[in-house]
Amino acid sequence: MKIRSPIVSVLGHVDHGKTTLLDHIRGSAVASREAGGITQHIGATEIPIDVIERICGDFLKKFSIRETLPGLFFIDTPGHEAFTTLRKRGGALADLAILIVDINEGFKPQTLEALNILKMYRTPFVVAANKVDRIPGWKVHEKEPFMTTFSRQDARTQQVLDTRVYELVGKLHEEGFESERFDRVTNFASQVSIIPISAVTGEGIPELLTMLMGLAQQYLKEQLKIEEDAPAKGTILEVKEEKGLGMTMDAVIYDGILRKDDTIAMMTSGDVVFTRIRSLLKPGPLEEMRESGRNFQKVDEVVAAAGIKIVAPDVDDVMAGSPLRVVTDPDTVKEEILGEIEDIKIDTDEAGVVVKADTLGSLEAVVKILRDIEVPIKVADIGDVSRRDVVNAEIALQEDTVYGAIIAFNVKVLPSAASELKNSEIKLFQGNVIYRIMEEYEEWVRGIEEKKKKEWMDAVIKPASIRLIPKLVFRQSKPAIGGVEILTGMIKQGYPLMDENGNPVGTVESMQDKGENLKSASRGQKVAMAIKDAVYGKNINEGDTLYVDIPENHYRILMDEMSGDLSEEELDLFERIAEVKRKRDPDWGMKAPF
Ligand code: GDP
Repeated sequence: MKIRSPIVSVLGHVDHGKTTLLDHIRGSAVASREAGGITQHIGATEIPIDVIERICGDFLKKFSIRETLPGLFFIDTPGHEAFTTLRKRGGALADLAILIVDINEGFKPQTLEALNILKMYRTPFVVAANKVDRIPGWKVHEKEPFMTTFSRQDARTQQVLDTRVYELVGKLHEEGFESERFDRVTNFASQVSIIPISAVTGEGIPELLTMLMGLAQQYLKEQLKIEEDAPAKGTILEVKEEKGLGMTMDAVIYDGILRKDDTIAMMTSGDVVFTRIRSLLKPGPLEEMRESGRNFQKVDEVVAAAGIKIVAPDVDDVMAGSPLRVVTDPDTVKEEILGEIEDIKIDTDEAGVVVKADTLGSLEAVVKILRDIEVPIKVADIGDVSRRDVVNAEIALQEDTVYGAIIAFNVKVLPSAASELKNSEIKLFQGNVIYRIMEEYEEWVRGIEEKKKKEWMDAVIKPASIRLIPKLVFRQSKPAIGGVEILTGMIKQGYPLMDENGNPVGTVESMQDKGENLKSASRGQKVAMAIKDAVYGKNINEGDTLYVDIPENHYRILMDEMSGDLSEEELDLFERIAEVKRKRDPDWGMKAPF
């Protein structure tokens, strides 16, 4: 048994400093190379413990972090796309993460998105509050620990920094995380550490590395135990053509040993592929790399954690993010790989939206977020938006307007789909920030629901009363037509009417004013009204006051949801109508509406 280095990923909003931080970490590792001996990997950089000790100085001891880990293994590709693509056994490949936030800008959409992803994968993380050197009045002390440089700032600058840190604490709290500036953390198990740093000047980096070591020690002891001579397990970072080498695969090995003539298995889009390794390559010395741009060295074997380039035939179709296994027994390995992919396969609902994403990992992330906000999913698939997706969405639209949507993360819309979309009611939500796509989708759904509610509310029969104007009877019956004045509220075509004793008298068939047909008429208006089923001289008389005969369930809806929208006069009438009704049925309007 051996303990491997924890794999660390850097996430955060664009321009908040992910690349600069990784470069700085690589740089500081390079700077102390002669003494420390850094390990440059394909797609990753490992800082060995002795280099960390040198950078961190007394901090490791101060935080009582024992040096039981060989180092920290940083994935060179930052961002949450890489994070969600790179997986191991149903989880994230990264054991730890740095969530980087520009301290002067605070949380941004991708910060929140990254946070949600970390939450989903339950990955322990620290927050690097970057660009402290941009705080007004900040005096730079290159590469110094935060505590040292902080103590040398003016009181006002210190204050500004602390205010901004507390803004981060507030944001994290809103998202369900308790946090503190790292030196004030009292419980590392329940609080996230915030480390103010500058990726440019190197201030705070010692504490950042220290806190990562602390997290690893706290959470990862079991996870980091590996068998040094077990068949390797890994994840494919990237499949790419390399001049003079043909198709190659960059992989991270997180368990076991990979040897140069091993047979390995990976996932293509359709099946598991087996191949025999031709050679294993690691980067050559850094200075040579700078000169030639590229430079590899052959190695016989690597032990986890390692980033390695693999040259082998038949790997053109291997998927980025695929599991990699050294083959001992082909059937078992195939089953294992398919099982791992199966874990990602997404259950879909009979009706719901269409979701497309660029990788299995990102698809899984989008689906998880949609599930969190209880959006049903009809189709979840990898790849660009095709005409078939639009047709599927059109079918879903028949169920419910809010299902007429395609959520497309990091993918294009194919031309055939674009023309289909143009002629359809389907709404496309497309982008590379999950969080923002979701926000737009939710806003669209809210709009639809409000419209539905308004239509529904409009259909509720509201209180109104009219007077049959004497000497203005145009027709006695079938239908009765006469002049009426609207006394209260608004009356609409189709409303049922009753007399002052609650006897139904007929429904409003039509209304006219100066020869024009009206759908509705309001208080004060005088119109000619045709009342179906009413007969002048029989159930209605000139000079009568008639009320709208509100159905019982409409009465409850009005009471419960719309009474605030009624005028005082309408409310009075509403009560009067209820009284009339209750004279005939004492329980009227007391039951629930549905
Ligand atoms: P990414 O998009 O998250 O990878 O961000 P980059 O690392 O590319 O940084 C974006 C910009 O911010 C670049 O111009 C960096 O030089 C700058 N930057 C990053 N970190 C710092 C820092 O700590 N201080 C200052 N002043 N600038 C920084």
